[in-house]
Amino acid sequence: MSLEGKTAIVTGSNSGIGLGVAQSFAAAGLDVVLNSYTDTDEDHALAADMAKAHGVNVRYIQADLSDGDAARSLVERAGACDVLVNNAGIQHVAPIQDFPAAKWDAIIAINLSSAFHTTAAALPMMREAGWGRVINIASAHGLTASPYKSAYVAAKHGIVGMTKVVALETAEEPITANAICPGYVMTPLVEGQIPDTMKEYGMDRETAIRDVLLARQPSKEFATVEQLGGTALFLCSDAAAQITGTTISVDGGWTAL
Ligand code: NAD
Repeated sequence: MSLEGKTAIVTGSNSGIGLGVAQSFAAAGLDVVLNSYTDTDEDHALAADMAKAHGVNVRYIQADLSDGDAARSLVERAGACDVLVNNAGIQHVAPIQDFPAAKWDAIIAINLSSAFHTTAAALPMMREAGWGRVINIASAHGLTASPYKSAYVAAKHGIVGMTKVVALETAEEPITANAICPGYVMTPLVEGQIPDTMKEYGMDRETAIRDVLLARQPSKEFATVEQLGGTALFLCSDAAAQITGTTISVDGGWTAL
C-alpha cells in the first residue's frame, strides 16, 4: 500500500516527537496536518517549510485538545485522516497529596481524552477510505510507573488500554491501532532540563545525563525523534498490517528491567 497522498494528522506537532514524526511522514510522501493549541506565524511557517522541503501538502490547524469538541473538530476540519497520531501531551510532577486537581484534569484531558475524541472522529473516515492507522504515542510510563507522576502514568496506562479496544473494534477491517512507548527522547523540552539537573546535583553534563536523566534507561542513550518517526512509519507499512492492539517500546531497555 503506497503511503503517497495519504493524509496524516499528528496532534501536538509544532515541536518534539510530534514534529519529528510529521517530518518522517512528509519525507515518505504523506500529506500532513500539524497541530497545537497556539496559532503563531512560526506554526504556519513550519507547515510551509515542510511542504516545500518534501513536495507534499502540509497544513497547520490550531486546536486546543484540552477541549473534546475542539479535538473532534480538528479531524473534521482536516477533512481526511488515513493516519492518526495522538501525540499531544503535557506533564506535571508532584506527590499525590499536593497534586493540583486542575493539573490532573488537564493531563487526563490532553494526554488521554483527546485521543478518544480524535479517534471517534477519524474512524468513520478510515472506514470510508478502506484503510487506516491509529498510532498513540504513550510512554514507558504506559507500562511502568514512577513516583510523583500520578496523572501522567494514569493517562499513559489509559491510552494503552484504549489502544487495545480500538484494535478489537477494528480487528476485521484494514485498520490497526497501536501504541508506541518511548523512554527518554531527546527533545527541546529534555535539552532544557539538562542545565537545571547539572545545577541541582552539581554534576557535569555527561554525568547528569547518565546518572539522573537516563538513570532508568539501560542503553544510556536518548531515543531520537527520527527513531520515533521511523517506528510510526513502520506501523503504517504493509509489514505491520497484522500488528494491532499492542505496544512497541522505544526505550533503550527501560521496560526490560
Ligand atoms: P513537547 O512538549 O515537545 O510536545 C508536546 C506537544 O503537544 C507540543 O506540540 C505542544 O504544543 C502540544 N500540546 C500541549 N498541550 C496541547 C493542547 N492543549 N492542545 C494541543 N496541543 C498541545 O514534548 P514531547 O517530548 O515531544 O512529547 C510528545 C509526546 O510524547 C507526549 O505525549 C509525551 O508524553 C510523549 N513522550 C515523550 C517522551 C520524552 O522523553 N520526550 C517520552 C515518552 C513519551
